[in-house]
Amino acid sequence: QARRLEGTDKNIWVEFVKLATTYSTVNLGQGFPDFSPPDFLTEAFMKALSRENHMLHQYTRAFGHPPLVKILAQYFGKLLGRDLDPMTNVMVTVGAYQALFCCFQAFIDEGDEVIIIEPFFDCYEPMAKMAGGMPVFVPLRPKAPKDGKLMSSADWQLDPGELASKFSERTKAIVLNSPNNPLGKVFSRGELELIADLCVKHDVLCISDEVYERLVYDGKEHIRIASLQGMWDRTVTIGSAGKTFSATGWKVGWTMGPNRLLQHLRTVHQNSVYHCATIAQEAVAQGFQRELELYGKPESYFVQLPKEMQQKRDWLVQSLDAVGMKPIVPEGTYFLVADISEFKSDVPDAPDSDEPYDSRFAKWVVKNKGLATIPLSAFYCEAHKNNYNHFIRFCFAKEEATLKAANDILQKWK
Ligand code: PMP
Ligand code: GLN
Repeated sequence: QARRLEGTDKNIWVEFVKLATTYSTVNLGQGFPDFSPPDFLTEAFMKALSRENHMLHQYTRAFGHPPLVKILAQYFGKLLGRDLDPMTNVMVTVGAYQALFCCFQAFIDEGDEVIIIEPFFDCYEPMAKMAGGMPVFVPLRPKAPKDGKLMSSADWQLDPGELASKFSERTKAIVLNSPNNPLGKVFSRGELELIADLCVKHDVLCISDEVYERLVYDGKEHIRIASLQGMWDRTVTIGSAGKTFSATGWKVGWTMGPNRLLQHLRTVHQNSVYHCATIAQEAVAQGFQRELELYGKPESYFVQLPKEMQQKRDWLVQSLDAVGMKPIVPEGTYFLVADISEFKSDVPDAPDSDEPYDSRFAKWVVKNKGLATIPLSAFYCEAHKNNYNHFIRFCFAKEEATLKAANDILQKWK
């Protein structure tokens, strides 16, 4: 085994997906929709498969199928208010996962520090380490909500002094994930400005994972850190068609940023994966074309999806609140974190076990109640796993019937 793999062999998804398939009847664990992608997207895929498009079965341009990079440049250029060159400012990857992997490989040297905000999407830590980097963690800290109110993901905040103290001359990059998986926190402009100012001051890169950019609720605005002063030149923004079009299995993702950074991502990409499936890229390009034409209109999927998801969120919030599993109301994403403290009598503490409490709890729930969830400690580094170990994460990108089945399990519980 190469040394760079040390300590990276365990993976929460491998472990919990297996548990979910073995025991679960209701799966609110791993994040994926159990409903179909929109018809226009699947139709675009079928069309791409047809005989007259036979060249779509072959290789395409390494750094992104031309129709896809062109429409991505157009669409995001509009959002960013900046002209994007499809050939140099955009690169298509095999999901956002590979985009992240390219970033760590391209920018992180042995001993470089990478600031990661906890709780974080789990792969940032092993990816930083595999590149030789040293992750430096800074937590979002929960503040008590106002009397009688449910906690919101907005109540989890960075301590500005603590964040500033993590930046040093060894810091190469910070990973930002807004909207955040698992909390659903949507970083405010003030919070993003704080991060941006520190990046500029210390000449640090920002790897901005924005895969949930479309899923923002209650009229909140998703702000792109690349649009803040001084940030375009030092930010790589990452997106995912899996999340955007509810087609996680397609594994189409992208990176966007200045050529001075993207040129190095292209080097990693050409020497590893080379390109993402042509047909999937063609269909995603058609999907974006449609969305650009319907921009902001009620028929737009990007307008409809968050509305539907907000209803599902509200439904799950009510269902959890009714049984005393206190939900932290997410401002974005399709995840919701809930407090399991009131359920401790079901799974007593095990003083001899190293395993965080929430992990033992989530395993007990899937085995005994047939409900799959993910323990929050999975989104903390090893040293901090026990700091917040009485929460579990639910995915609510699910059909009504699935959410009802989860509700039945919860209401019968107590
Ligand atoms: N970043 C975050 C925050 C995610 O939740 C996911 C979901 N797996 C990814 C990246 C990876 O996205 P993809 O499925 O497009 O590889
Ligand atoms: N992003 C999804 C989640 O957080 C899936 C992650 C994965 O399968 N690796 O659940």
